[in-house]
Amino acid sequence: MKLNKEFDIKNTASTSAPSFRNFPMVPRVVYGRGSFSELGAVLMPHRKNSDAPCIFLVDDVFEGTSLVDRIPLIFNDQIIFISAEEEPKTDQVDALVSKIKNDFSERPSAIIGIGGGTLLDLAKAVAILLSNSGNAANYQGWDLVRKAAVYHVGIPTISGTGAEVSRTTVLLGPEKKLGINSDFTIFDQVLLDPDLTEGVTKEQWFYTGMDCFIHCVESLNGTYLNAFSQSYGEKAMDLCTEVFLGDLSPSDAREKLMMASWHGGMSIAYSQVGVAHAMSYGLSFLLGVKHGIGNCLVFQHLNDYYPEGVALFKQMMAKHHIALPKGVCAGLSDEAFDTMVGVSLKMEPLWENALGKDWRSKMTPARLRTLYEKI
Ligand code: NAD
Ligand code: ZN
Repeated sequence: MKLNKEFDIKNTASTSAPSFRNFPMVPRVVYGRGSFSELGAVLMPHRKNSDAPCIFLVDDVFEGTSLVDRIPLIFNDQIIFISAEEEPKTDQVDALVSKIKNDFSERPSAIIGIGGGTLLDLAKAVAILLSNSGNAANYQGWDLVRKAAVYHVGIPTISGTGAEVSRTTVLLGPEKKLGINSDFTIFDQVLLDPDLTEGVTKEQWFYTGMDCFIHCVESLNGTYLNAFSQSYGEKAMDLCTEVFLGDLSPSDAREKLMMASWHGGMSIAYSQVGVAHAMSYGLSFLLGVKHGIGNCLVFQHLNDYYPEGVALFKQMMAKHHIALPKGVCAGLSDEAFDTMVGVSLKMEPLWENALGKDWRSKMTPARLRTLYEKI
């Protein structure tokens, strides 16, 4: 497979010398309902000494809940509650790293992220910046991280993004929204306990779950498709269809969506996402629309590009009585539309994956604006 180094996980079939990327994968995973209780045993061999704490970055939705009582605190371990209201920012990562460096004499033994994509990405970034000097914004890009991160563990509490398996952490920086894409970003350990996703609201479950479904549609219908990506994408698609259109018990649905997220993330490791993600990126940049809902807002209008996927998506919306906000782009100025269109069209590998090498003739700025106007 030929890959464009600049776009890392964004495999592109174009450009220069062919190369074969040697991707890391999550080396260890605990799976199963109730497996959160294993966390203490999982961390124990990684504890360096009593002065090197385990730092738990936990979504503040869990503050005061029984989950917090189950966190295996010993020595000087610390829990830091963080709101997932806004997507992670580079200066937030820098502030967390400074706090941890100020609070402890020794580098932590482990960073553990407990939450959705927001907390998982923060944990990855903090672990990297604890062992690499400078600011998080210095590392936004591809393969800029030089030193191994502090041992870091991801524990998802909502399923869909695939952030638990990916080698990126998406951060909003002063100049750009861009991931820290590196081999050192990958979690050293993931713990998948489907019971942790129990309290998610129906809307958020749907939006984040659709991130996974859309990863599958975009990967499976992309020009970069290959057997590696297809094998994971088809499995994830089957699981999403069971979860969102089948008749599963709630606990089965939680288990299957957690595995769908894993496979969906693996599917895009060696291929790429497509039109919905390229457009959603523009919405996020200009309006701060979050990833899951942003993808849904766009995807409903992509019938020309993904007819079967959009038909399934609409069935899923109807079955779960999901009403998406309307008029999100109503009343935006020409300048605002230009910004969104410009940001979106910069995601070249996504467009090339979706529409082929001559994508520019198929997705003109005017056509893209028309799509945004529908949202
Ligand atoms: P999120 O982490 O933003 O959380 C969404 C909401 O769900 C929050 O209000 C949160 O508090 C709540 N929540 C989470 N778990 C809950 C639980 N068990 N019970 C009740 N509420 C719960 O959601 P997300 O969709 O998982 O993540 C979106 C983020 O992931 C974005 O920042 C996006 O950029 C990032 N992302 C990263 C990757 C990657 O590969 N690194 C891929 C896709 C998306
Ligand atoms: Zn996504």
